Amino acid sequence: MNLDGRTALVTGASRGIGRAVALALAKTGANVVINYVSNARAGQKVAGEAERAGARVLLFQADVSRPEEAAELVQAGVDEFGRLDILVNNAGITRDNLLMRMQDEDWDAVLNVNLKGAFNTTRAALRYMLKARYGRIINISSIIGLRGNAGQANYAAAKAGLIGLTKSVAREIGSRNITVNAVAPGFILTEMTDKLPQEVRERMISEIPLGRFGTPEDVAALITFLASEAAGYITGQVIAVDGGMAI
Ligand code: NAP
Repeated sequence: MNLDGRTALVTGASRGIGRAVALALAKTGANVVINYVSNARAGQKVAGEAERAGARVLLFQADVSRPEEAAELVQAGVDEFGRLDILVNNAGITRDNLLMRMQDEDWDAVLNVNLKGAFNTTRAALRYMLKARYGRIINISSIIGLRGNAGQANYAAAKAGLIGLTKSVAREIGSRNITVNAVAPGFILTEMTDKLPQEVRERMISEIPLGRFGTPEDVAALITFLASEAAGYITGQVIAVDGGMAI
């Protein structure tokens, strides 16, 4: 893949999947805007790695759940690089609990970051993509958004919502040469999944036909393809990267 001259913004790129996506895009020659919310040190480390891979980099702190901060993030990328071609809505959190025990704050936080965050950045980015008549938007959903999961009603609702957002925006802006797709990872080894108890991990691996957990790089490979020219006739799709877990 060659993304020389393109600019990509990856939300939540200080760790896990977002980090791997930012580094993979950096290796293709794209300029990369690396966003984080609180972990400045991790963000700086990823920015350094992306620079060593040859990319021009902007590191930018913003809480994507806040519309004004999401807009500032997009604007900063455009100011730095003069354009925005690729938006990867990756920032996400979990606040797991059974529904009857779930607090309003846990519901709101997960919906606000995982779903409203993508709305905030997409709306801000489209101002530039529509003018340029070019864009690649990739939303990181989850197989939990397709299958549901006990203890994750907030997360599943947000990730299913992202699929509705993806398909609707794909229909709205397809005529402007902007594609919008969702990626649905299965169980990927990151800090998010580190929190899960051993018995849950063992149960999950028994459900994965490929017999292993995924890596952030497994997800980044698909996102790099969807961000490329080669994926220009793919829009409104939900593509799982899950070792076959959701078959
Ligand atoms: P992670 O390791 O916990 O990293 C989360 C990232 O999101 C961090 O960079 C964090 O920044 C950032 N973030 C959190 N809240 C934010 C906010 N309000 N504004 C901006 N950035 C924010 O997560 P991950 O496992 O890589 O997951 C990445 C995405 O993939 C998420 O959307 C997740 O739901 C999805 N996903 C993950 C899996 C999995 O198995 N891991 C499976 C399916 C889907 P800080 O470092 O500053 O906190």
